[in-house]
Amino acid sequence: MVYVADDKRYEMMTYRRCGKSGLKLPAISLGLWHNFGGIDKYENGRAMVRRAFDLGITHFDLANNYGPPAGSAEETFGRILRDDFMPYRDEMIISTKAGYYMWPGPYGEWGSKKYLVSSLDQSLTRMGLDYVDIYYHHRPDPDTPLEETMAALDLLVRQGKALYVGISNYSPEMALEASRILKSLGTPCLIHQPQYSMMARQPEQGLLQILEEEGIGSIAFSPLNKGILTDRYLNGITPDSRAAGPSVFLNQGEITEEVIAKVSRLNDMAAKRGQKLSQMALAWTLRGGKVTSALIGVSKVSQIEDAAAAINNLSFTDEELAQIDRILA
Ligand code: NDP
Repeated sequence: MVYVADDKRYEMMTYRRCGKSGLKLPAISLGLWHNFGGIDKYENGRAMVRRAFDLGITHFDLANNYGPPAGSAEETFGRILRDDFMPYRDEMIISTKAGYYMWPGPYGEWGSKKYLVSSLDQSLTRMGLDYVDIYYHHRPDPDTPLEETMAALDLLVRQGKALYVGISNYSPEMALEASRILKSLGTPCLIHQPQYSMMARQPEQGLLQILEEEGIGSIAFSPLNKGILTDRYLNGITPDSRAAGPSVFLNQGEITEEVIAKVSRLNDMAAKRGQKLSQMALAWTLRGGKVTSALIGVSKVSQIEDAAAAINNLSFTDEELAQIDRILA
């Protein structure tokens, strides 16, 4: 059936300015790292993107290597765009990245101009797009001069292949340096994409502060800690979960009794707030406007609905925050 977006789609979501840029991002963004690959069911991915857009989630995050196999999430997304979203392209923020291994030889990973330019051309072809809204350097490259990597991002903006640029997994020091170089080139860094959740708090050690000072937005990846900060594993590991599946990024060994005991206490807390644990975890990441957007993954439509409803309560009392810290200490 022809997809027609819900005409109420902008009534529920909130949009937050990304740093000091002109761009606003939805408080909840959807990442296509898992569940959109060539091994996954196309119609499920399509239904999830449709539902997300209907709930006001305008931002979709990809990378060259998402799949598996690598590249296939961009192909799936390209097909969804062609099937359903051509009339809506100007209402969407589509990002992709390059940095991790993508093809053999010396030009298929890290941060050279050769790699970043070639990879974006490949991504655009896979998605059937003329441009992406945000192009990221996915991880710092210890060997390529930062000037070269940032100049490649600037070049791609000038060529019209990306509207904005970002960095991911950069330390506070490297982020500051990258920001200074990009400013000098006239293409300010829009956004940083770090991992950030109740269980992964590294960005609080200086990064968020630097981003604020530099006027850079932030989008927190894995805000549910890959599914651990939900009710997913409270009663064991079900076969349809990420921990049970082929992903090497969450294995059953991480779901220990000790972890589940903590998650169970957090789950009780969330219930007292009238939220699911997944919703409390997203609210925690978004609390006080410290990050621009929480970048979730999903395997089913209902998980998107849970996430979108999280924005109804983003506030915490000091006692609640202290209790979370005690549980996770
Ligand atoms: P999350 O921490 O949001 O974990 C997503 C998983 O949590 C889902 O796949 C699902 O697991 C589970 N889940 C989600 N909602 C619910 C719910 N309501 N109830 C129960 N379980 C739920 O994020 P991801 O780790 O998937 O990462 C999100 C995005 O961040 C990626 O798609 C990617 O775009 C980006 N990312 C970027 C990285 C980088 O280096 N820049 C690295 C990693 C991610 P299940 O599948 O078991 O149902």
